Amino acid sequence: MNETSQALDYRQLVEQHGSPLLLLDKAAVRKQYRALAAALPDVRLHYALKPLPHPALVEVLKEEGACFDLATNGEVDLVKSQGVRPGRCIHTHPIKRDGDIRHALEYGCTVFVYDNPWELDKFLPYKDEVKLLLRVSFPNPETKVDLSKKFGCTPEQALPLMQLAQAKGLKVMGLSFHVGSQVPNPKRHVQAIDACRAILEQAWDLGLKPWVLDIGGGFPVDYEGGDVDIASFCAPIREALADLPATVQKIAEPGRFISAPAMTSVASVMGKAHRGDKIWYYLDDGLYGSYNGQMYDHVTYPVSVPYANGEAHRSVLAGPTCDSVDVIRDDIALPELEIGDLVVGRVMGAYTWASASTFNFFPKADILVIDSSQQEQRLTAVA
Ligand SMILES: *Cc1c(COP(=O)(O)O)cnc(C)c1O
Repeated sequence: MNETSQALDYRQLVEQHGSPLLLLDKAAVRKQYRALAAALPDVRLHYALKPLPHPALVEVLKEEGACFDLATNGEVDLVKSQGVRPGRCIHTHPIKRDGDIRHALEYGCTVFVYDNPWELDKFLPYKDEVKLLLRVSFPNPETKVDLSKKFGCTPEQALPLMQLAQAKGLKVMGLSFHVGSQVPNPKRHVQAIDACRAILEQAWDLGLKPWVLDIGGGFPVDYEGGDVDIASFCAPIREALADLPATVQKIAEPGRFISAPAMTSVASVMGKAHRGDKIWYYLDDGLYGSYNGQMYDHVTYPVSVPYANGEAHRSVLAGPTCDSVDVIRDDIALPELEIGDLVVGRVMGAYTWASASTFNFFPKADILVIDSSQQEQRLTAVA
């Protein structure tokens, strides 16, 4: 990532394509996918589209042989438009409307997730077509994005829910979980794998035949801009998975890990002011735009001013909207910037563009697809 970014002339890119920009580097997507695939060699990786549902990323991952994790009709349409075979997809939203199920089935995706009896009943009309994963919840107070309250049955409810499916003539292929996003260590993955192994063993004892364990997402990135040693992070997960019979298929749903390091934000200073003892800079991207993850995703992105130098001043980097909460960094030491100067944000590929708004009618940043290994450039305008 670092060699890449230094080689890019952001000023030229902004001159050519406008500001604000998000630079999506296909080479970085490849690198992340390969690193995780090497760290989890027996696990089939389904990229979760949610953090960055962009065609270029789907295209790269498809070439890499990745599978996909879909949750909405829009995500179904995106992989379909990129020619992904439906057999490479699973649909993992635990709560669906009939239309959502039908849309995925029309595409050819037949694997779905349930976590309660009402969801199970929604599959009765499609009994012969669908295979289900039962989502089990494992609370994770260690992450700020803990999904265990919103989705998943308790481990105690798992067997009765598998038996209920069997009684209704629905096929349960296995269990899934999501221990929360950007987890600090692999402990919860390991605990959840062990707990699921116990549930699977009880199910087999009862004559049920689940054959899949889906260990979800959560794989972390370094928001200081470095590389997480994903092989070490995954070592305990590999060990826990090795305790399962070899006949159990293992899959994962990484989102953030694949996309976060692949995108860099470039924003321009549109105005400045001295207020108190600080210099305020108003950028054309902010908390309602690409930086919204600082609000919703509880992360702080590393920012830099690659073309400015000189004495550092106490500074504030604010977004463009008229809302006072729209501040990217309060009290950061920066050399003095001029109007038009560029501010670069890194590790901005996950939960950024995907959840940005156009509040105040400030358009979302355009994504410029590049390939740092090939000199490719391609602009996706969104506004
Ligand atoms: C969001 C989500 C993911 C991706 O999680 P990351 O923490 O970004 O890896 C995977 N599976 C499901 C069901 C999700 O909702």
